[in-house]
Amino acid sequence: MEKGLLKCPFCGGEDIKIIDRIDVSDGMHTLYHAKCSGCGASTDEQKSQFDAIMAWNRRV
Ligand SMILES: [Zn+2]
Repeated sequence: MEKGLLKCPFCGGEDIKIIDRIDVSDGMHTLYHAKCSGCGASTDEQKSQFDAIMAWNRRV
């Protein structure tokens, strides 16, 4: 599990990954979102890894 991520609020899984991808709209920026490998729950895409972690931890 990535550092600082809480367990999945949906399935209780601890296998949460931060996924990054290039923003296809400009090809220069990277977007990040957190995703649970257990149930597939994910956050919206964020501008930074830190924001993705915060977005995940805010989920209830
Ligand atoms: Zn889950």
